Formats: sequence, structure tokens, C-alpha cells
Amino acid sequence: MTFVSSFEKKVKKTIKDYQLAGKKDKILVACSGGKDSTVVLYLLKKFGYDAEALMIDLGIGEWSEKNLKNLRAFCRKHGIKMHVFSMRKEFGCSVCYIRSSVQFRKKLKNCMICGVIKRWLLNKKARELGAAKLATGHNLDDEAETVLMNMFRGDPVVGMGPKNGVIIDSRFVQRIKPLYFCSISESRMYSEAMKFTVLYDPCPCSITATRRWVRNWLAELENADAVKMHIVRNFLVVQKAAMKNFKSEAAIQQCSSCGEPSRGGQCRRCELISIMRE
Ligand code: AMP
Ligand code: ZN
Repeated sequence: MTFVSSFEKKVKKTIKDYQLAGKKDKILVACSGGKDSTVVLYLLKKFGYDAEALMIDLGIGEWSEKNLKNLRAFCRKHGIKMHVFSMRKEFGCSVCYIRSSVQFRKKLKNCMICGVIKRWLLNKKARELGAAKLATGHNLDDEAETVLMNMFRGDPVVGMGPKNGVIIDSRFVQRIKPLYFCSISESRMYSEAMKFTVLYDPCPCSITATRRWVRNWLAELENADAVKMHIVRNFLVVQKAAMKNFKSEAAIQQCSSCGEPSRGGQCRRCELISIMRE
């Protein structure tokens, strides 16, 4: 079997084994313009799912412009519907502006701030567009790193996996990760084999991320890809056991500022916006 067909088989198996989506589900694929989310978009479409692209134009200079241009061309070529929302239109400024204003008052990491804002907007837009699922390009490397980072921080183990399902609330569109068991190098090899026009450079703002450090550290280990697979497989076993005793904390409420789902008071996005406006 060629690499291309074995990669496709693996993604198909992940979707089937973890019941990530049905053929009638409308899936919005959160597309950054990078290789992973482009591969997810392409494969969901190829497998016959009702998939559309959802991109947030973060306004990170030339990097965002190139990603937007690449994704537009890709969607046009493959006949895929594309939805773009601009940070400048939605928030009145780029994500870089929000980040630097927040960081002026609070020591928070670039990726953390961007992640909160992105997740908030992606969930809101996917829900408004009537999506049953929101697919992301998270791959094996991302997930193994997240398991380790959550352990380092003492965060709970329940809320991750090929699909999220801890908090069932109609205001949250279920997130799915079809590349959960595909390493970053496999995803890149597939994207290159398919000759996708995408940027392979990481986001220019992620230089200081702890994640980058964990990634480099994992990469130095012998049989690094096997180690990453052991990390996520073991995590899934532990998660399954933990879920049996898991009781969701307080019911999800409404953010007092934006009305989006929140654990109480303001949601994390609105907390950041309040800090920015102080
Ligand atoms: P990151 O948080 O940059 O590691 O990206 C994780 C996933 O979020 C990607 O695989 C995409 O599915 C999604 N994503 C990242 N950036 C964007 C964006 N600008 N617009 C839409 N989805 C994005
Ligand atoms: Zn809010």
C-alpha cells in the first residue's frame, strides 16, 4: 500500500472508530491555511462528508494574507464553500493588537491569548452557520504535547481526545480531530505528496511558546513518533477510566458580557477584552 492510501486509511479509521461524524452532519473545518487543517478539509470532502471551510483572518501581516490566499485558491479548486471572518471586523483590531494590550497589563503567553479568542470565535461562527461538528487540524504531535503540558500544569485529563464530549451543551459545537493519530511528519508528507500550496512555517508569534519547547524535547527522543503514540494511547485509557467517575461541575451558564457559554461570570474571551480595555 502506498503512503498516501495508508494515511487516508488511518484517518478514515479514526473517524469510524471514534464516531467523529456522520454523512448527514454539516462539518465546518477550522482552517488556518496550514497543512494540517487543509489535509482535514480535503479528506473529509474526499470521504463524502458535508464539509465547508471556516477561517479567521487573524490580521498577522503577510503570514495571514498568504494563508488566506492559499486557502481561497484551494477551496476554489476543490469546489469547497469557504467562510472567512476577520478579527478586525469582529473585534475592531488584529489579534496582535489584542495580545500586546493584554500583555501590557498581564503576563500571558501569545498562544494562550490567541487560542482563547480563536476558540470563542470559531465556536460562535460554526454554531451560527448551523454546524454539527467543528473539525480542527490537531495532529498526534499536538495532542501528545498537550497531554504532557496538562500534566505539567496539573490540569484535568478528561477534556481532550479525538472528539470532545465532556460538556454537552447545544451552544458548544462538538470539536473533532480526524488527524489525532497522524504525526506532524506524516501530515506534512501527505500534504507534499498531494502538492497542496500551503505555508509550512509556524505562526511567527509562537516563538516563545512552551509548546515549542516540549515539541523539540520530544523530537530528541529515540523513536519519537512511537513515544507520542504511547502518550496519547495511554492518555485515552486513563481518560476512559476517569470519565466513569466524572461529574460535570456547575452547569454551563451564560457569559455576563457576550452571552456565549461560560462557567459563570465572564467567559475567558471577555476577561481578556476587559483587560485590554482597562
Ligand atoms: P493552533 O492553535 O494554531 O495550533 O491551531 C490548531 C487548529 O486550530 C488548526 O489545526 C486549525 O484547525 C485551527 N485554526 C488555527 N488557526 C486558525 C484560523 N486562523 N482560522 C480558523 N482555524 C484556525
Ligand atoms: Zn463573553
